[in-house]
Amino acid sequence: MVTVKKGKDRVVPNGRYLIICDFDGTISTADVGYELIKRFSGDGWEEIDRAYCAGMMGSKDAYTQIAALMKASQDEMGAYVLRYGGIDPYFKDFYTFCKTHGFDLVIVSDGFDFYIDAILKKHNVCNIAYFSNVVSFHDDRRVTIEFPLRNEECDKCGNCKRSILRQYRLTYDEIIYIGNGYSDICPAQEADVVFAKEILYDRCMEEGGNCVYYTDFSDIKTHIERMYPFFVRRIHVNS
Ligand SMILES: [Mg+2]
Repeated sequence: MVTVKKGKDRVVPNGRYLIICDFDGTISTADVGYELIKRFSGDGWEEIDRAYCAGMMGSKDAYTQIAALMKASQDEMGAYVLRYGGIDPYFKDFYTFCKTHGFDLVIVSDGFDFYIDAILKKHNVCNIAYFSNVVSFHDDRRVTIEFPLRNEECDKCGNCKRSILRQYRLTYDEIIYIGNGYSDICPAQEADVVFAKEILYDRCMEEGGNCVYYTDFSDIKTHIERMYPFFVRRIHVNS
């Protein structure tokens, strides 16, 4: 059953609509950041990861500590990403649907810039704006991570997705959020419609069930066509 947060009255037929979408495990089939950490980090990363999953540590601090355990060149990590970086088989079709029907789409990620860029290019899905943490590779195979989009007040996530959503609130009438993990919980609480699976879905259900479960982007497309029929009709009339 489709449940939306504010009821149908909020819908603005000529409004501006934005889809904010997580990357790891949502667009990408794997949690690429996690796979890179597993592959390239030395002893001690699992303890840090457990503390993160238990809510005892935010991703910013967890990434900072894990980065100190990582050893890799950009070429090594890049090759690994290209080998394992698959995307949802329906994402390209979904993105084309969004562009055709007037839904803007941006990616928010608490992962790393270089692999989002590489995976999108690999699958020929270009020109999507994305917001993420930033990785630097050094000559001695050290890796450091910067967090240009952190929230200094909260200071938990590397990339504060809720702050990005709030900025977009100033210019969009409706915000649809798509995600699957811990870093999606805060922004999902402020979106108008939430598509969720895995950790995000479980948390949304605990907090009242204001979300739509999905397995892939063909599900989401079907739901959006039903939820915003005026939008699809408008575009068809205009084209
Ligand atoms: Mg994710």
